[in-house]
Amino acid sequence: MFEKAWFFFLKSVITFSMNSAILLAGGIGSRFGSSTPKQFVSLKGKLLILHSFEKLVKSLYIDEIIIVCQKKYEKLFECEKILKFARPGQERQQSVYNGLKLATGDYVVVHDGARPLFSLKSMEKAIEAAKQNGASALAVPVTSTIKKWDRSIKTVPRKNLWEIQTPQVVRRSLFIKAFQFVIQNKVVVTDDLSVVEAFGHQPTLVEGNDENIKITRPIDLKVAGALYDSL
Ligand code: C5P
Repeated sequence: MFEKAWFFFLKSVITFSMNSAILLAGGIGSRFGSSTPKQFVSLKGKLLILHSFEKLVKSLYIDEIIIVCQKKYEKLFECEKILKFARPGQERQQSVYNGLKLATGDYVVVHDGARPLFSLKSMEKAIEAAKQNGASALAVPVTSTIKKWDRSIKTVPRKNLWEIQTPQVVRRSLFIKAFQFVIQNKVVVTDDLSVVEAFGHQPTLVEGNDENIKITRPIDLKVAGALYDSL
């Protein structure tokens, strides 16, 4: 009880908006090559998804958490905050939309459960940026040379290229309208900013941290373990 009152006092000093987090854990992770979806494998003795979940629980910026997962995984999650569950869709985009339908906050923070090393400080910067701009995402500058290989090879100039991470944050009212547009027009996207971009809105980027990698293949888990030890 006392802890709850203290939480709301601190929150009112730090941030005035109510924010919902959608934590995505609905993928099957086919590229990871394990019978257990990658977000439910262990990293340093703790399930990958719980690294992200526990950070979201700790953040004063997050009031409500919506987990997108199969029903059998629901029992893994417990907290004092508002906790809701949505079912995964066929693609990430549909999973986000299923979560969004349950969100009640002013801003919606979408996070991939496969990124256990995100920093709360960076997430909070992204929330502040979305308050100014409607939508924002964490991103890091691209350091590799990128080529587009179709019928011919074309080198994409590296300057101004950013690799997009999560958390991504969108004002809920904008997100709902943008999603309706995307659904009506059958636009296929792989991240959340693309939803609002397709709707004609210009989001903003916030520089994140290199260690916020996405676990996709088994080697990523090894890298994440080493990065975890170095933090
Ligand atoms: O497959 P990918 O690595 O891009 O997935 C990113 C995140 O989206 C993962 O946490 C995954 O569990 C989630 N996801 C989902 N529903 C899907 C596909 C992916 O919740 N249909």
